[in-house]
Amino acid sequence: MRLRTDDDIYRARLVYLGPPGYTLPMHLPYAQYGMFVLLVPLFMFVHYLVTFEFESVPAETVAFLSQFVPVYPSAEALRIARDRWFEKSMFKDLGIPTPAFADIQSQADLDAAVASIGLPAVLKTRTLGYDGKGQKVLRTAADVTGTFAELGSVPCLLEGFVPFTGEVSLIAVRGRDGETCFYPLVHNTHESGILRLSVASTDHPLQALAQDYAERVLKKLDYVGVLAFEFFEVDGGLKANEIAPRVHNSGHWTTEGAECSQFENHLRAVAGLPLGSTAKVGESAMLNFIGEVPAVDKVLSVDDCHLHHYGKAFKAGRKVGHATVRSADRETLDRQVKQVEALIKN
Ligand code: AMP
Repeated sequence: MRLRTDDDIYRARLVYLGPPGYTLPMHLPYAQYGMFVLLVPLFMFVHYLVTFEFESVPAETVAFLSQFVPVYPSAEALRIARDRWFEKSMFKDLGIPTPAFADIQSQADLDAAVASIGLPAVLKTRTLGYDGKGQKVLRTAADVTGTFAELGSVPCLLEGFVPFTGEVSLIAVRGRDGETCFYPLVHNTHESGILRLSVASTDHPLQALAQDYAERVLKKLDYVGVLAFEFFEVDGGLKANEIAPRVHNSGHWTTEGAECSQFENHLRAVAGLPLGSTAKVGESAMLNFIGEVPAVDKVLSVDDCHLHHYGKAFKAGRKVGHATVRSADRETLDRQVKQVEALIKN
């Protein structure tokens, strides 16, 4: 992103980085993660700031670029957040409750960890898992056999299964000067590990606790930008599930539902500009479209409903769009959510 002065935030020029074979609309400038020869002149002489919205970016690419240009969030924040072992070890060091966990490098490690953590438990690949991919719930001794190989015999983490009463996430923002702000906690509903519904809360009793935990992480990582923190609600408290060093699906409602969206606040934060208000502008919920987008005219006939179509090929299990619904009161919002849910086939 080219942002030489504060005014430049309004006319940022973007160069996109992505994996080989990725196609962008409108021939936007694009380079592959591994094209180090191209990346140096691009970012040293033309651009002065790098950010990312995807934790599968190779940490080496980000660390490499950090030698030449400021990168926010930092390569170190990415290194921790993209690896479940580093992430959960950090929670433990910071006194943030998290499920029991163990590093798994072999089937023998898994057998030993199951003996100490017990069943049910969840085996997850340490890196690159998303939307329920790269993880398996182990309920019986039979599930334990062969599961490490099933996940590709790659480094994994075994976690105790948390009998949660709910899942919430906190979208946090930290500026270059250390200023922080937080959106209202969001209630999330997942199916098969994929986020289906996010509802922004009002005066959630665990808001202050979630913010306290997030402050510890933001400070530890000297974090700049938007960070999403996912929690399990259990026994009236919170257990940390994971962090994402980026704008997050459970914060998509902020585009229409908050004074300043998570996307704008991320750009303000990395550009060193004052952060915007995270206040809600009424009640809001976000519904993901998984596999396909329902009939557009029907979605838009729901009151105060806003459709985001990603233009991706429809495919089972893939997020291809979302809708935000807004209302002045929670009862009406719940009705609007049900109307959109009725249009979703899968
Ligand atoms: P994750 O990719 O770690 O966010 O996991 C995706 C979803 O799987 C979570 O949102 C939970 O619904 C479920 N899940 C993950 N880990 C656990 C756990 N340790 N105990 C219970 N459910 C879990």
